[in-house]
Amino acid sequence: MTDIVSNPAVLARYLALPQGSKVLAEYIWIDGTNNLRSKCRTLDTKPTSVEELPEWNFDGSSTEQAPGHDSDIYIRPCAFYPDPFRLGDNIIVLAECYNSDGTPNAFNHRYECAKLMEAHKDEQIWFGIEQEYTLFDQYNNVYGWPKGGFPAPQGPYYCGVGTGKVNCRDVVEAHYKACLYAGIKISGINAEVMPSQWEFQVGPCTGITMGDELTIARYLLHRVAEDFNIKISFHPKPLAGDWNGAGCHTNVSTEKMRIPGGMKYIEEAIEKLSKRHSEHVAVYGEDNDLRLTGKHETASIAAFSAGVANRGCSIRIPRSVNKDGFGYFEDRRPASNIDPYLVTGIMAETILGPVDG
Ligand code: ADP
Ligand code: MN
Ligand code: MN
Ligand code: MN
Ligand code: MN
Repeated sequence: MTDIVSNPAVLARYLALPQGSKVLAEYIWIDGTNNLRSKCRTLDTKPTSVEELPEWNFDGSSTEQAPGHDSDIYIRPCAFYPDPFRLGDNIIVLAECYNSDGTPNAFNHRYECAKLMEAHKDEQIWFGIEQEYTLFDQYNNVYGWPKGGFPAPQGPYYCGVGTGKVNCRDVVEAHYKACLYAGIKISGINAEVMPSQWEFQVGPCTGITMGDELTIARYLLHRVAEDFNIKISFHPKPLAGDWNGAGCHTNVSTEKMRIPGGMKYIEEAIEKLSKRHSEHVAVYGEDNDLRLTGKHETASIAAFSAGVANRGCSIRIPRSVNKDGFGYFEDRRPASNIDPYLVTGIMAETILGPVDG
């Protein structure tokens, strides 16, 4: 791509123009390639509940979600958030995709996930996801890496401080604030082991809101990065060789696990997880086999394992949880490119049972 130059000073004049009583609603959905799409419409009034937001549609043949001869896909709003880019009463709207016959679109994994979360809502399941990602420049080089070469080996970069140890802190800080503005429960950030790789955490979020909030946080990251001409990659092994991959560690607890005596329920959950390893791995992200090698703080994809404070296991019980005897556990297998509804859905199904179970 050629360099496209924006003029922020001129743009600011237009963005400052009043918009009357109208509200802009940016509808966001997950497409057929596990990427996000969005389009915007004008509303006459600010909605007070999601039910007031109109259903809409788009051309699914352009997003790999539908064939050309029957291309209309419906987008049904399920949550909305303050828009940190347009400010004011403007909103971003998370939407689910439905086919023209009313069935959920093949890539709408929120539909089944929501049924599972609803069926088990008394258990108060919480999730916290650690989203790792890698920043690339517009020419597809890892951001700030020497052209045609490599930076010094891993070591100084994790939670790094100072020039040469971290890159793109501007993007990270801007994204953090954008998430807070939108009401996303972002719980922290840190620089990762590979240079130009970072992590943000979202949670704890109850049930279906985990997938919703992670999806919006990813959207905000892509949008913030646009302003810096930076590309965000969620690939689980963006660079082959002795460089860490990128995951989405998924932390989990139910009400029973969070109170004294909870370790019994954590152990029961781990026992159930051990019996469905391959079913879980099947929905834990594409190309995750490149990441789950048994090296670089991962467990091999071939076998299930669990341990206290062990970052080479599939499941880790944090040291503090083991000491207290209650709390939560961490599933370290999910890749950075997961669909969070598939992961939180199968987690609820395995540890709490199927929808009609
Ligand atoms: P790590 O030590 O693995 O790097 P992080 O601090 O990056 O852990 O992330 C921990 C995540 O666990 C956060 O998203 C946090 O919100 C989440 N979390 C904390 N307590 C719970 C809990 N009881 N149930 C589920 N998730 C939790
Ligand atoms: Mn058109
Ligand atoms: Mn972490
Ligand atoms: Mn990490
Ligand atoms: Mn972790």
